[in-house]
Amino acid sequence: MAYDIAALKARLDGIRLEENPALVRQRSRDFYWYSPTLKRQLDTVTADIVAFATTQDEVLTILAACAELAIPVTPRGAGTGNYGQAMPLAGGVVLDLSGLTRIVEIAHGRVRAEAGAIIADIDAACRPGGQELRLHPSTYRTASIGGFIAGGSGGVGSITWGGLRDLGNIIGLKVATMEPQPRILALSGEEVQKVAHAYGTNGIILEVEMPLAPAFEWIEAIIGFDDFARAAAYANALGEQDAMLKKLLSVIAAPLPQTYFARHRPYLPAGQHIVLVMVAPIARAAFDSFTARWGGRLLFDSDAVGTEDAKGLPPLYELSWNHTTLRALRLDPAITYLQTLYPFPNQLDLAARIHAELGDEVPAHLEFVRFDGKVTCFGLPLVRFSTEERLEAIIARHEAIGIPVFNPHRYTLEEGGMKQTDAAQLAFKRAADPAGLLNPGKMIAWDQPDFDFGAGRTYLFAGLAGKD
Ligand code: FAD
Repeated sequence: MAYDIAALKARLDGIRLEENPALVRQRSRDFYWYSPTLKRQLDTVTADIVAFATTQDEVLTILAACAELAIPVTPRGAGTGNYGQAMPLAGGVVLDLSGLTRIVEIAHGRVRAEAGAIIADIDAACRPGGQELRLHPSTYRTASIGGFIAGGSGGVGSITWGGLRDLGNIIGLKVATMEPQPRILALSGEEVQKVAHAYGTNGIILEVEMPLAPAFEWIEAIIGFDDFARAAAYANALGEQDAMLKKLLSVIAAPLPQTYFARHRPYLPAGQHIVLVMVAPIARAAFDSFTARWGGRLLFDSDAVGTEDAKGLPPLYELSWNHTTLRALRLDPAITYLQTLYPFPNQLDLAARIHAELGDEVPAHLEFVRFDGKVTCFGLPLVRFSTEERLEAIIARHEAIGIPVFNPHRYTLEEGGMKQTDAAQLAFKRAADPAGLLNPGKMIAWDQPDFDFGAGRTYLFAGLAGKD
């Protein structure tokens, strides 16, 4: 569709714009290429123009102009999302928010920052006061806080604090609507879930207020086991030890670590299934005792690694969550992945069962988390890709035995399965984006009036209506 870009440019005088097709294409992409299906579907997607906002007033000017000219707007933080979330299916404007970097206020237990602030930069500002964010994605050093809330789910810290889906992990959001005269909304409590993980379809986040936790120099440890099921059981049991503060508990089946974790390879003997652990220094002795009780081998210990050896090693969290997939993909482009949930209380049985059944075609990678207060695990298993049909069959097999898949090979909110849109979400979108100009094509419920909201799936971010 042709938009009146000349009229838009006239309205946006003084705001940095980019029209060079190669650069526009670059800013129209995220990490969608993790999925061979999305790569096939989205490779040609590009915007008409990129608008770079550096102040909140500039965001409002861009939204107002686009609303008046009926030009779609797809927000972008750092573009590290995985599902084509930040890709402008209908063209138009990519609204780059990476210039909104102000840390507005740090107080006891909370921080307020602009949406484009890099997550690690927020922590760097909080640490002198002895505080840090409760949770962050493994893209800590590159992702924006607004992009994490609009496109992410959880990660490092989720073993203690749960995920973004949990009430209390986002205190408040300042959001702009997509109208000729944009309104500013202050959302808190359950209201934040209208915008969290909505891919920017329900408003543009300008500022976020997040809770903080005590900061630590986290110890990084890798524990080895001869047996995958034993490694998973150890991680589950350590997850339940509430008196030992932890930030990360990942289980990765051999031979993935030995094959793909190049820099840590000297620490990883063949055949060892590993558990990545970030634990607070105050829990050091307790952690060592607990690990000894389980017969785990301490393969890597950040306390024991000399400064010379530590040089060049990535932080442990950059071996975890979707960085595990990235490291495998870098060495083997035929790798892709799934996102699964092993529901409590059967998580260990289900993880062991599917690992035994699908073996080296779908090597196991578990991330232990608090889910509705219980310790359980997500899976980000790798998949040795052959065909899209086989990928669908693998997904179907997981679901058939009670392992829900949040399908990372779909670009709509509903099919991705993390976000349940419902009547309340849709009503909010009608108010916040009446012409449907925000990131069009990502919310099926908007495009299909007869969409079935209660399609019987497991959603990570459940709908609002009917929540008890
Ligand atoms: P973007 O990719 O720019 O945007 C994400 C979505 O949010 C898009 O739909 C975009 O349109 C929308 N958006 C961006 N900014 C705004 C705004 N201000 N207002 C409204 N909408 C907005 N995710 C996790 O949850 N946990 C992980 O541990 C994790 N690990 C990852 C590891 C790797 C190697 C990769 C590639 C991805 C990983 N992800 C993870 C996914 C992704 O990194 C995170 O979700 C990240 O926080 C996204 O931030 P971003 O700034 O890059 O957002």
